[in-house]
Amino acid sequence: MGKVTGFMEYERLDEGYEPVPARVKNYKEFVIGLNAEQAKVQGARCMDCGTPFCNNGCPVNNIIPDFNDLVFRGRPEDWKNAITVLQSTNNFPEFTGRICPAPCEAACTLNVNDDAVGIKSIEHAIIDRAWAEGWVKPLLPKVKTGKTVAVVGSGPATASPCSRRTTASAACCATAFPTSRWRRRTSTAASRRWKPRA
Ligand code: SF4
Repeated sequence: MGKVTGFMEYERLDEGYEPVPARVKNYKEFVIGLNAEQAKVQGARCMDCGTPFCNNGCPVNNIIPDFNDLVFRGRPEDWKNAITVLQSTNNFPEFTGRICPAPCEAACTLNVNDDAVGIKSIEHAIIDRAWAEGWVKPLLPKVKTGKTVAVVGSGPATASPCSRRTTASAACCATAFPTSRWRRRTSTAASRRWKPRA
């Protein structure tokens, strides 16, 4: 685990935001992620629970205690291993590190009587560093079949098999198609107007 007493020594640090007057001038990302030192301290808060409920709370079962520990260790090779661990379960940490509602944090044992480990911000830091260092590479198939597969679904449920399928050999065509469950959960005007084709 990171630091045995880390969860007692360090407070949770959330990501920051660009000030509103600055962010309304453009459409760029306005979340300010943790730097390496901040992520290290946040990784130190992980208790490496014998039963890591975070792992079970994560929809893709990210191996959270392991990458928390690697970020805490903080050497370049540790960060590189952290992205390997993260990508072993997660095809798109650049998305989930930003927009996932983080049920892992709700499930975190530290959340019982303290602030949960900032798992999502650590994930965000790992994938951003991996891109910056050139550790993220396209996984191209050795042989292409020339066939195309269409996957109908919504969000990661569509994109994930496409990623795997393209890696395996066939081109993949993703189609965003809101499901009835998605429509029930989404309350935007656009979704209320949405009607399935007859
Ligand atoms: S539940 Fe929280 S403290 Fe426990 S291993 Fe997971 S992230 Fe660390």
